[in-house]
Amino acid sequence: MLSDRALAALREVVPGDRVLTAREDLLTYAADATPLMGRPPSAVVVPRDAEEVSEVVRLANEEGFAIVPRGAGTGLSGGAVPASEDAVVLLFHGWNEIAEIDLGNHMAWVEPGVITADLHRAVEDHDLFYPPDPGSMRVCTIGGNVAENAGGLRGLKYGVTKDYVQGLEVVLPTGEFVRMGGKAVKDAAGYDLKDLMVGSEGTLGIFTRVLVRLVARPASTRTILATFRTLGAAGEAVAAILAARIVPSMLELLDRTTILAVERYARLGLPQDLAALLLIETDGHPVVASDEARAVSRLCKAHGAREVRHAATAREAEDLRTARRAAFSALARIGPTTILEDATVPRSAVPAMLERIHEIAARHGVVFGIFGHAGDGNLHPTCVLDAREPDEVARAEAAFEEVFAAAIALGGTITGEHGVGLAKRRFLELQVGDPALRFMREVKRVMDPNQVLNPGKVFAPRPRCEHPPIGHPRLAGATA
Ligand SMILES: Cc1cc2nc3c(=O)[nH]c(=O)nc-3n(C[C@H](O)[C@H](O)[C@H](O)COP(=O)(O)OP(=O)(O)OC[C@H]3O[C@@H](n4cnc5c(N)ncnc54)[C@H](O)[C@@H]3O)c2cc1C
Repeated sequence: MLSDRALAALREVVPGDRVLTAREDLLTYAADATPLMGRPPSAVVVPRDAEEVSEVVRLANEEGFAIVPRGAGTGLSGGAVPASEDAVVLLFHGWNEIAEIDLGNHMAWVEPGVITADLHRAVEDHDLFYPPDPGSMRVCTIGGNVAENAGGLRGLKYGVTKDYVQGLEVVLPTGEFVRMGGKAVKDAAGYDLKDLMVGSEGTLGIFTRVLVRLVARPASTRTILATFRTLGAAGEAVAAILAARIVPSMLELLDRTTILAVERYARLGLPQDLAALLLIETDGHPVVASDEARAVSRLCKAHGAREVRHAATAREAEDLRTARRAAFSALARIGPTTILEDATVPRSAVPAMLERIHEIAARHGVVFGIFGHAGDGNLHPTCVLDAREPDEVARAEAAFEEVFAAAIALGGTITGEHGVGLAKRRFLELQVGDPALRFMREVKRVMDPNQVLNPGKVFAPRPRCEHPPIGHPRLAGATA
């Protein structure tokens, strides 16, 4: 619990009604989009500027409480939920100003609470483009995107958030304020601290402003929907498109379970007997986008596509994208608990990984919908279960254990874009090995000696286990 003295000091640093302690306020911030984890904070604080953030962090060091920065709470690894009783959630509500769109340098300074889709719209008005587009982009924030190094549907061609972070203003775990990076496109001065911050999951610094890089808005886009009778055929079509040196701006896959859920949700008129579909976009100069779209069509047909449909209008294309973005919500309607993971493999291993996930799900008798960014190997095996049933929980736990092991065995990773947070901290050592894990812990220890920033995330509580337990920590009921 937060001491009375710490609470009183917090109210002095952040005056007015911006320190919330009412039970209903605390419960609101006990969870994010990750099921089955989290606990209420001791207080919720809404700072107004970087100076107040810095004061709160200094106070945390003096009084010994934890700070959990929070954007929109759409995270899927438990990053924005408290892991300890004494945690204070730091909100960036109202920090939604796009302070500058620099047309000469193709960059924008934004506050961390800016909604990602709002940034898209603002820069597209100037014919510029901010590519990272997480499925949650209508809700999630730039601060959360930078902290998780978020990806999205356009990641295959355009990369992920780290490829667009040009500069940061950060409050360090000591309370010091630091600027990293800037508008110079080349900068070789010292260690690249900015890149260390991107993907640090709120454990190394609090972002108070972000400078993002923008690119020219693609002149045209072609959207294609290809349907398949087998999942394997869809996987092979993905491999063939990439082998043909075509880099679509979107190459998304949905399996049968997901298609049925999306169809019930979005009513696209898809046949009910499909095993898989690919949603593909090519973009760029109209001639190039059209040529590539035709080539993609041919390759899909050559690999057994049952139907290849080209979106005739911008509206139809947007409806298809919206349906894909609804995949998680559509699956969530099938059962009371939905656990979405992001095991990721090298692109060439996508067909093998799809086969492994289906085989694992069938053997454990669990319902897995699979969708995801097939073009960059970032799949989302999503388990629909009822967490009140211990047997279902045990089977899901065993299945996820094998999915993660399969991803690593295929040269992949336990997380392509959602981060480690609480949900996957027990798997990190399996992924990176002991020396790398010790190095990461050391970075955290040096930068945050009092462990005030988002403690309990990324690293499992025990420093090292000889035989790290595999199992889904949230299903096992673990928190901190
Ligand atoms: C339906 C759905 C679809 C999704 N699709 C995608 C997808 O396609 N790609 C993808 O990558 N993710 C996706 N996600 C996951 C999630 O939206 C992203 O991780 C997103 O970046 C989280 O942003 P947020 O604002 O909600 O952050 P939160 O969940 O609030 O926080 C996430 C992390 O960021 C830290 N943080 C937040 N603000 C700051 C700050 N100012 N300074 C320092 N640290 C901070 C928090 O402490 C936490 O560790 C999806 C989630 C949902 C629910």
